[in-house]
Amino acid sequence: MQHQINPPPALTAEERARATAAATAARRERAATKQALASGELSIFDVINSARPALQKMRVTELLESVPGVGKLRAEAIMERAGISPTRRVAGLGRLQVVALRGELSMTKVEPKRGTLIVMSGPGGVGKSTITRELRNDPRFWISISGTTRDPRAGERDGVDYFFYTDSKFDQMIENSEFLEWAEFAGARYGTPQAPIEEWLTLGKHVLLEIEIEGARQVRKVDPEAMLIFVAPPSWDELKLRLMGRGTDSPERQAARLALAESEMAASGEFDHILVNHHVGELITELVSLATSHRGEVGPS
Ligand code: 5GP
Repeated sequence: MQHQINPPPALTAEERARATAAATAARRERAATKQALASGELSIFDVINSARPALQKMRVTELLESVPGVGKLRAEAIMERAGISPTRRVAGLGRLQVVALRGELSMTKVEPKRGTLIVMSGPGGVGKSTITRELRNDPRFWISISGTTRDPRAGERDGVDYFFYTDSKFDQMIENSEFLEWAEFAGARYGTPQAPIEEWLTLGKHVLLEIEIEGARQVRKVDPEAMLIFVAPPSWDELKLRLMGRGTDSPERQAARLALAESEMAASGEFDHILVNHHVGELITELVSLATSHRGEVGPS
């Protein structure tokens, strides 16, 4: 019997462009991951546990060969002993194979290098929360969860988006020096809990604080090694459009938003690096490369 084979549907130019862009982004992500494995910034278990589709498609051999001290031959031997076929991809690893890999690699333990403390600020509407959301899924980063006295917005969860504190709890935390920095913004107080930061940096994670400018200034004072990043819009007009397009603000509220954004933009010169948000993926690649090369350096005073 003959089977009819249908030709694949033709892609439109737009679909082709989208597919090419996605393939480029995935290639870049895989290259960055291999680099991070080589520098000891990531362990292969960070990659295996990550839900990123581009990483799930990587071959296990590729990962192993990137680990310092594991060459091609050693990788082959490890795979064989762990019962993993040479063509196996991360997504296809079974639980017992991961356990076997752990056993094999415990002999090649690499101490993680200390991560970088990154402070990210920028005007409202510039896309900071999209960047933060993306980095939440990146195993090289740990995202700080701030405390605030403002009310939760729809969909926000206590302990996930913020820790929502009463005024008296916030006062008490200031008194006990539990914040690395804190500041007032739009009628509420916001602060970065100090305790987890050192722990994550020691574990080799880059720690990201997404905070307003006054807080960034305070971090600079208490930790001159922190890397201060200012996220800027492609143009002032574009930022204006984004701010005006938000909801159904009154003209007074819109004017206040613009004035605030203007004063925030004026502070950009105080930061170590200004990254223009043309494209979130590219900005993140740049951020990772800055964080990696920044480690151990002392920023400008
Ligand atoms: P929102 O209320 O819109 O979530 O945040 C308002 C502003 O507070 C944003 O600019 C955000 O970056 C900033 N912010 C959030 N957490 C902190 C923090 O822990 N410290 C400081 N100084 N600012 C914060």
